[in-house]
Amino acid sequence: MAVVEFQKVSKQYVAGQMPAVDSLDLSCNEGEMLALLGPSGCGKSSTLKMAAGLEDLTSGEIFFDGRPISALPPAQRNVAMVFEDYCLYPNLSVEDNIGFPLTVQRVAADELDRRVSEITAMLGLEAIRKQSVRDLSGGAQQRVSIGRALIREPDLVLFDEPLSHLDGDQRVYLRSEISRLQKSRGLTSILVTHDQNEATAMADRIAILDGGKLQQVATPRELYLRPANIFVANFIGEPPMNLLEARIEDGKTIDIGVPGLALTLSSQRSKVVESRRSGGLVVGVRPEHVSVLPANSHDANAWLSYREPRGDVDVLTLTIEGPVPLKLVAEIDGPSSYRVNDRLRVDILADHVHLFDPESQANLEAAGGVQ
Ligand code: ADP
Ligand code: MG
Repeated sequence: MAVVEFQKVSKQYVAGQMPAVDSLDLSCNEGEMLALLGPSGCGKSSTLKMAAGLEDLTSGEIFFDGRPISALPPAQRNVAMVFEDYCLYPNLSVEDNIGFPLTVQRVAADELDRRVSEITAMLGLEAIRKQSVRDLSGGAQQRVSIGRALIREPDLVLFDEPLSHLDGDQRVYLRSEISRLQKSRGLTSILVTHDQNEATAMADRIAILDGGKLQQVATPRELYLRPANIFVANFIGEPPMNLLEARIEDGKTIDIGVPGLALTLSSQRSKVVESRRSGGLVVGVRPEHVSVLPANSHDANAWLSYREPRGDVDVLTLTIEGPVPLKLVAEIDGPSSYRVNDRLRVDILADHVHLFDPESQANLEAAGGVQ
């Protein structure tokens, strides 16, 4: 298994247009599952295709274990790819699809059978080994295509949205199945997805891309706790973070435009905002860090405009009263007994807020940001 390193990798399909991948610096460690996460069109598949050799680089270099590989044809890279739509041979059986890469390499029949048996056992496909793949469910077809990817013992496995065509149960099952195989076989893998839950559940680290540019690469926990910028903050977490325009009142008080709801920072955190006295800032508040209590007329400061029960939690859309009414989304334990138009007491847990620069969009407290 290889360490994969992208150095200043760019891809421009059409001269004069924005690059699909823009000077990407990123590495995937040996045995790691690295997710590339971002909205549609942000350059995830282009990045994978360059690693596989299906697209040329416009500039930069990709290294496997320190060796530059961009000049090598796909067949010499020992990279396997698993696609969204399985890409199986519909007329062949499960075992013939899985064994196909070895058949092409003219591996002897007994060796071929031994390795196909090992892979079908590992993926729980023994009972349907002789069946045509045409008759299988989407989940079983994707397991066959994973088997075909692994039988060559690749140095790197690339997954491009492998679960996108599957429905709920199969998706969750295959998600855990891929994770189990990846960890037990120590596969160096890159997973492309636009689904933050999938990335968070499966990846050791997540690289967030937007417009072809790397925004941040970190563990799922780190992305949640210390998003490098407003894009990452908004992309990770569901419901998304509330983003409020704010001003600094004095050294450690932040005015979000609502009387009685100023945020007081700890003295350690206030150092960060001291230097920004004249300018504004953006305050990020995760819905789970908004406290909501029933209120009587004298301490109420908000009313409930919408309640979405989600079983174990309720997502509340609140309107905070003020010179300019402020919308805030809260997530609280559910099911609650609140009803639309209820008057409530809403507070923001100041210790948990994130502070961003409105111009650069960077987190004022994150060290470094993009690594
Ligand atoms: P993602 O996988 O994140 O959805 P892609 O890497 O497929 O994004 O695409 C990134 C950008 O490059 C998009 O704007 C897309 O339209 C463009 N693009 C992708 N493939 C080609 C191609 N073969 N020719 C021209 N533009 C392309
Ligand atoms: Mg794609």
